[in-house]
Amino acid sequence: KTRIQSNSNQNDELGQLTNDFNKMAENLELLMTSQKRLLADISHELRSPLTRLQMAAGLAQIHQNDQTGQYLVRIEKEAKTLDDMISDVLKLSRLEAQSQMLSKEYQPFSLVLNPVLSDATFEAKQNNKRLNIVGEQDAEFKYDGQIISSALDNVLRNAIKYANSLITVELKHNKNHLIITISDDGPGVPNNDLKQLFEPFFRVSHSRERNSGGTGLGLAITKHAILAHNGIIELKNQDNSGLSVIISLPI
Ligand code: ADP
Repeated sequence: KTRIQSNSNQNDELGQLTNDFNKMAENLELLMTSQKRLLADISHELRSPLTRLQMAAGLAQIHQNDQTGQYLVRIEKEAKTLDDMISDVLKLSRLEAQSQMLSKEYQPFSLVLNPVLSDATFEAKQNNKRLNIVGEQDAEFKYDGQIISSALDNVLRNAIKYANSLITVELKHNKNHLIITISDDGPGVPNNDLKQLFEPFFRVSHSRERNSGGTGLGLAITKHAILAHNGIIELKNQDNSGLSVIISLPI
């Protein structure tokens, strides 16, 4: 630990400087710890599909004549998981490192919202679920279309995945903000876990099984995307059941 000891009075100039320096050292240590943890998490998460890939490849070689097809399907699936993870890790680190360098343009919000909603409606239908859109709001403001579109897409995909049968998208706006609430009628999330959902690789235990798909990075990326637009994203369990994701963007 790097700390400066000072004998001077806390309130004089030297005391103040000492305090400032020690605060900075403390923040830097915290940052380094979280970077180290993230790196350890990434290595761990990438290793699991890689191990399964190697196992399936080994089995395919042993059973060359009969079960090969089945192992090749597994190999393909795990390779895709790795590919998705790597591109999500890159997205997250780009957003963290250079959120000021987004290509923001002044444009109507409907430009990204409409295609995202029609994709989601289609996907919901394919899963025998229904997407209901309430309210109709448009606003023109400065945002990065690609980033906002993938943020909304992430939240909608989760909602479709966990919904029982219905996903509701509610659009509202007040004087300064556009508010998009995406709710589902699924199991929701234990209240203790709500805060951690934005942590990279965090998953509620029921979706930990390897077949649930997803990289565990979706909400971390979404949060950074919304923060990069000075917006707010919140999660709430609904009274009856299901999760609500509330995104508020300044307009
Ligand atoms: P993943 O790639 O696992 O979907 P996310 O960061 O998007 O990663 O989500 C993290 C975890 O949050 C999910 O694995 C799941 O446990 C939980 N989660 C996200 N959205 C919902 C939802 N609508 N209902 C219930 N659980 C959810």
